[in-house]
Amino acid sequence: MKKICKLDKKETERFVRELLEDGRRPRYICEACARLAFDRKQLCKPLRIRKKSVKKR
Ligand SMILES: [Zn+2]
Repeated sequence: MKKICKLDKKETERFVRELLEDGRRPRYICEACARLAFDRKQLCKPLRIRKKSVKKR
């Protein structure tokens, strides 16, 4: 599968819409490009998103 980080702008927009329509939440974020994905293989520098929300003061 193609890496989300390598998609061009139009493809990224389409991907984001598909994510939203799917109703699921992505589990990984790319540290380098700030893109979201369900699969870490789709990102160049994946970082797992924690389920627990970070408390802000
Ligand atoms: Zn990336």
